[in-house]
Amino acid sequence: MRRRGEGSSSNSNQCFHLLFDIVKIIKYRNSPQEETRSPHAAEAVAAMAEIRVVTVGQGGVGKSATVIYLLRGIFIETYDPTIEDLHRKQMRVDGFAYMLAILDTAGQEEFSAMQGEWFSTGEGFVLMYAINDRKSFDGCKKLRQRIYQAKDLKMDEFTIIVVGNKADLEEEREVSKEEGQALAAESGSPFFEVSAKEGSNVVEVFEAVVRGVEKIRKNKAEEEELTPKRSPSFGSLRKSTIGKLASGRGDDVQQPANGKDKTKKFCTLL
Ligand code: GDP
Ligand code: MG
Repeated sequence: MRRRGEGSSSNSNQCFHLLFDIVKIIKYRNSPQEETRSPHAAEAVAAMAEIRVVTVGQGGVGKSATVIYLLRGIFIETYDPTIEDLHRKQMRVDGFAYMLAILDTAGQEEFSAMQGEWFSTGEGFVLMYAINDRKSFDGCKKLRQRIYQAKDLKMDEFTIIVVGNKADLEEEREVSKEEGQALAAESGSPFFEVSAKEGSNVVEVFEAVVRGVEKIRKNKAEEEELTPKRSPSFGSLRKSTIGKLASGRGDDVQQPANGKDKTKKFCTLL
């Protein structure tokens, strides 16, 4: 038997729960990280392709400023040049979500333990100079050679994007756009002039990294499907290319010709 007042108390209880649920829904909707919203979304993030990216270039060319612009959309005037940082950034490219793990290197004279590991396992390299600093441009060939060496000539396992930063300093320009393009062409790399200060072309650089890596992964999977017992190291290198690299003339190496796209994807559609 229902007592007097029982009905109204259960009504107010219901109201309370309803209010509680509304608050939960609002919190859930405003959750900044999509992946924490539901177990399904969390699984999707776990399955998301991670791409290891390394910034390479002389000190002061703007590697950190560029990475920070990508991460936060702001330009940081001064950043400790000795700091080597590892960042993670979720990016959507061509409708697919990727997790970029970016090692922002510092001090190129000697490899840190982390740099050594990342040079050999990295899939995307952002090779950077500053357009107002010829020395930084001249140093790029040596740095690129270093990437080749660390990768043990496995040219089909990584992509290099050549970047001329500080494009806003046009009046101080020491390196022409054509020189940058020629440097990039030597390794079959995409080329961008960017400005971390103005934010121009920064996102485009990292999108190019993702596209390059995605293409390489597809080609590799295609090769493995077709010829599973083939040696992976020099699989898609032409003999003449290997010869050039071995004799230290590696800078004119072309990326291997890429095959047709297959439908296999290495990323998660969110
Ligand atoms: P890193 O040593 O390569 O990481 O270089 P930083 O990111 O620390 O930048 C070195 C200096 O260049 C800093 O004083 C930055 O403010 C400046 N800088 C970086 N990017 C740009 C840019 O696009 N334009 C201009 N004008 N200055 C920049
Ligand atoms: Mg730095």
